[in-house]
Formats: sequence, C-alpha cells, structure tokens
Amino acid sequence: MKFDILTLFPEMFSSVLNSSILNKAQEKDLIDINTINIRDYTTDKHNQADDYPYGGGAGMVMKAEPIFRAVDDLKLASRDIAVIFLTPQGDTFNQDMAKEFAEEKELILLCGHYEGVDQRVRDELVTHEVSIGDYVLTGGELPAMILVDAISRMIPGVLGSEESAIQDSFYGDILDYPQYTRPQEYKGLKVPSVLLSGDHAKVDRWRRKKALKKTLLKRPDLLANASLSKEDKLLLAE
Ligand code: SAM
Repeated sequence: MKFDILTLFPEMFSSVLNSSILNKAQEKDLIDINTINIRDYTTDKHNQADDYPYGGGAGMVMKAEPIFRAVDDLKLASRDIAVIFLTPQGDTFNQDMAKEFAEEKELILLCGHYEGVDQRVRDELVTHEVSIGDYVLTGGELPAMILVDAISRMIPGVLGSEESAIQDSFYGDILDYPQYTRPQEYKGLKVPSVLLSGDHAKVDRWRRKKALKKTLLKRPDLLANASLSKEDKLLLAE
C-alpha cells in the first residue's frame, strides 16, 4: 500500500512514521509512505501556498493551484486513487473505515492547515472527507498519521501476528480483554490465577467474559449491536 501525504509540513512525519511497527512495515515493503511538500508545486518566486480568504475574515486559506498540480502529478500513473481530505467536517474515522481503506493499493491524504483548503479542491479532487473526532486541530498532519497507522495495522504482515488485530477492540464487536505480563505480583497486586493455569480453554473463557463485561460497562452501545452467542449471554449473566 502506498500513502501519498500532501502537506505543507513534511518534517512533522518522520519521527512518528519511521519508528516501531510502521518503520518495520516500510522496511518489509508492505507500506510505502511518500510525503510531498505542497510548496514544491507552487510556481511563484515566493513559493506561496496560502493566501487571504476572499470576502475577508481571519486566517489564511491553502491555495487550489499547487494542490491540483500535486494531485495531477500523482494521478499520472493511475487516475483511480482515492483522495482523502482530513477535515473536522468529514465522516468520523473508525475501524471499519480503516479496514476498507486497507484494501486500496494507493491513497492520497491531503492535510489542511490554517483555515483549510480552497473549496474548489474539495469539490473537484477530494473523494472522501474524514475527521478524527469532534475537535479542531491546527492541521491535518496528526490526523493523517492516525489514518496511516490504523490502516497499516490492517494490512496482512504488518503486525507480528494476525491475531493481535483480531482480538483488538473494535476489530470485532467488543472491547479487548485485560492484559497482564511479568511479574506475577507487583506491590501486592496479583495476576489473575487463571492466566497462570495453563488451561487454554479456561483462559479463553475468562478473557471472553472480561471483554464482554468491560464492553457492557464502558461501551453498552457496542454490545447492543454485537452478535452474541448463547455462551456469551451466559457469561454476561454470571
Ligand atoms: N476552519 C476549519 C473548519 O472549521 O472546518 C478548520 C481548519 S483547522 C484549523 C486546519 C486543518 O486541520 C483542517 O483543514 C484539517 O485538515 C485539519 N483538522 C483539524 N481538525 C481536524 C479533525 N478533527 N479531523 C481531521 N482533520 C482536522
């Protein structure tokens, strides 16, 4: 999967996207993260990528021409690439969207800044508008990194074990179960004994019950739409 990230601040991406699991995924050629400075597509001598808004008002607006040129350049090889604009006005990002986008071969992520981008970009170029939540950030760079991370995790081979995605919260219908690691006891706090029993059936049952109860407590909305087995209903009632 190739991510083309259009931004005025490419330097923001390197430490986050070149660390840990995403770095390994790039080394294994499972993902390719291509940051593109929109300013490189300006044609005036000051490399101006933003300008005052028509009609007045505070702030600056990212100009249409450099973004059109950058997207046209990326689409030379294939016209059929989704262009995602990160905006607080978009559809709220979730795990299902991450799974769907992970099916694509290439995605263009457009990061707004200042007051956002010229509306003509949104009308003509953008195929999806995505928000990471109901709050406003200074730019689309952090949201783009969030999409790259969540989408990459859905690409086979990126995570060490496919199971680690399957058991995650939101991958299925419910939240993840509680996790413990060594030592067995810390400050008098003990790891539940069932996890040390070596009885895999018992461990699975305990984890399922904990996950169901946690979801009931924290996200009853998820549980209401979950497809629960007879056994799940019994575990919830225990
Ligand atoms: N004036 C814009 C509005 O009210 O919709 C907000 C502009 S915001 C200060 C600058 C840029 O940050 C946006 O163009 C967008 O790319 C990004 N951004 C801010 N909050 C976001 C969010 N919740 N989700 C995705 N992108 C966001």
